[in-house]
Amino acid sequence: MDPVTDSLNEVHRRLRGLRDGKVADYIPQLATADPDDFGIALVSMAGHTYRAGRTDRPFSIQSVSKPFVYALALGDLGPEEVLRRVDVEPSGNPFNAISLEPGTGRPANPMINAGAIATTAMVRADGPAERFRRILDCLSAFAGRVLDVDEEVYASEAATGDRNRALAYLMHSAGSLGADPEETADTYFRQCSVRVTAVDLAVMAATLANGGRNPVTGVQVVPEPHVVRTLSVMATCGMYDGAGAWLLNVGLPAKSGVSGGLIAASPARFGVAVHSPPLDGAGNPVRAVAALGMMSERFGLHIMHGP
Ligand code: GLU
Repeated sequence: MDPVTDSLNEVHRRLRGLRDGKVADYIPQLATADPDDFGIALVSMAGHTYRAGRTDRPFSIQSVSKPFVYALALGDLGPEEVLRRVDVEPSGNPFNAISLEPGTGRPANPMINAGAIATTAMVRADGPAERFRRILDCLSAFAGRVLDVDEEVYASEAATGDRNRALAYLMHSAGSLGADPEETADTYFRQCSVRVTAVDLAVMAATLANGGRNPVTGVQVVPEPHVVRTLSVMATCGMYDGAGAWLLNVGLPAKSGVSGGLIAASPARFGVAVHSPPLDGAGNPVRAVAALGMMSERFGLHIMHGP
């Protein structure tokens, strides 16, 4: 076996017995996840995939979609207009907080729900169907294969997503949404319900690490300067209210989601993804945080490390 797979297997072996955390249940369909699912996938800049554990199990992408849609919006509207509409400051608040700037209604950053909903609204389209098609095409190009929607998760999100609808309406009333609130919330629910595997997420993370070029397909998905912005926002805001401790301990731009997915990008080196549904108090997947902590220490991955 190659040394990378050996290392991933070792991390997997050491953490699979970890029983901390709780599977998210605020969206009923998420509560059906198997807490023992645990997969780690890593994709190199040469496009090689390495895996350990269950890496082919499909799950909904949830908040891991946020950085990719942010990169898409940067291309559609340009960085200045996007910044005018969504700030880039860590909020220190939970993912579903009402972090809106007093007066303007501008969300704190694109990695919390308010900012992500505003970002979804920024994707250029003639209507909601085209907007979602462009989001799905973008996520698919990052993954290097055609993705689809988990309709059961979508139905569950739509049935219980009043807080996200409320955020959309709040921004609409402050004049900061720029689109119909119901339609935008619905597109955002679909975006969160896109079905991926740990391997898909690792390819997506590797595309960010590779300056926006998918290392498996060779396609330049988004321009490099937009990737730099996206990775910067991930570094400061990607891990909900655990972002500070994450940057200190792991030191890689990352994004987690409530279904237990997590991506991290080591620029010019690799993308890595972990899937493990039980979450800690900040909403981050427990085994994934532990796995990346182990890998960072062992291989010196912290971006602040000297040569
Ligand atoms: N669909 C979820 C929500 O907006 C995504 C949240 C997350 O993964 O953090 O409630």
